[in-house]
Amino acid sequence: MRTALFPGSFDPITCGHLEIVRRGLKIFDRIIVGVGVNTSKSPTFSVEKRVEWIEKCFEGDGRVEVKTYSGLTVHFARECGAEFILRGLRAAPDFEYEKNIDLLNNHLFPGVQTVYLIAFPETAHISSTLVREVIRFGGILDGLAPPHIVEDIRSVQ
Ligand code: ADP
Repeated sequence: MRTALFPGSFDPITCGHLEIVRRGLKIFDRIIVGVGVNTSKSPTFSVEKRVEWIEKCFEGDGRVEVKTYSGLTVHFARECGAEFILRGLRAAPDFEYEKNIDLLNNHLFPGVQTVYLIAFPETAHISSTLVREVIRFGGILDGLAPPHIVEDIRSVQ
């Protein structure tokens, strides 16, 4: 059983995240979406809402589980029994950031390998920040935020 941890802030989950999970499921048997709660970013949405929205997106799919964590991502991966970490790469800054984290993780726990998927051009421009901006100014969220959660996101903001 190949298990991967897909860690992030998911503030909120976007169609870009969904695409990575969808493709990740072709490689892994099980994906744990890990919502990090102690990053330096101060989130817009509560951790409860972020988890609820992710769960809604994968309702009925036993291969995807949602968990929250604090502390180092590699520690959490080991705790979950995940041998892999899944990350998406959109553009050069993502690569620069991930490269250093990868070196650190391999130093800490060589047993956990990170697998990177290059974003498809259709979704590479999507970020949680962009989705939050569109919500704020009342723009159309089709194709940016998962349809399952659009109404709920609008009601919270
Ligand atoms: P983090 O704060 O860890 O970057 P995010 O929620 O922003 O958390 O992103 C989680 C993961 O999803 C990261 O690996 C990020 O690169 C990836 N990701 C986010 N948006 C996209 C996208 N549009 N296409 C591909 N990967 C993405």
